[in-house]
Amino acid sequence: MELQYTEHLSPSLKGGIKNYLIDIDGTITDDIPNEEPERMVDCEPYLDALETINKWYDEGHQICFFTSRTEALKQITIDWLDKNGFKYHSVLCGKPRGGNYHWIDNHLVKATRYKGKFTDLVEKNVSIEVFKD
Ligand SMILES: [Mg+2]
Repeated sequence: MELQYTEHLSPSLKGGIKNYLIDIDGTITDDIPNEEPERMVDCEPYLDALETINKWYDEGHQICFFTSRTEALKQITIDWLDKNGFKYHSVLCGKPRGGNYHWIDNHLVKATRYKGKFTDLVEKNVSIEVFKD
């Protein structure tokens, strides 16, 4: 990962490389709750997600799966990702459950809601919430 350092500040990714944080349940496979882990072993990947994410990886982007699955389910998750051929750099468990996410950060953040079709991203003009000037 190529990082650009500025003295006394946290580094930023260089050259248009993105840090993708990608949900798992309901985004790259069926929406499986933590209470039904047996389903996490044999669920099918969404093939358009697999293809798009692996392309992003090959283009040099950072791929992190950010999931509400618990740490206890991390190895099942890694085994499933590997078995199905996903390319990625990391898996972060413990994302808060319940959705309605709103991320506030001093770095640039963009968000895209998955609605059943995983493709390359396109630009659209939409309304967002920001802090007052
Ligand atoms: Mg989900």
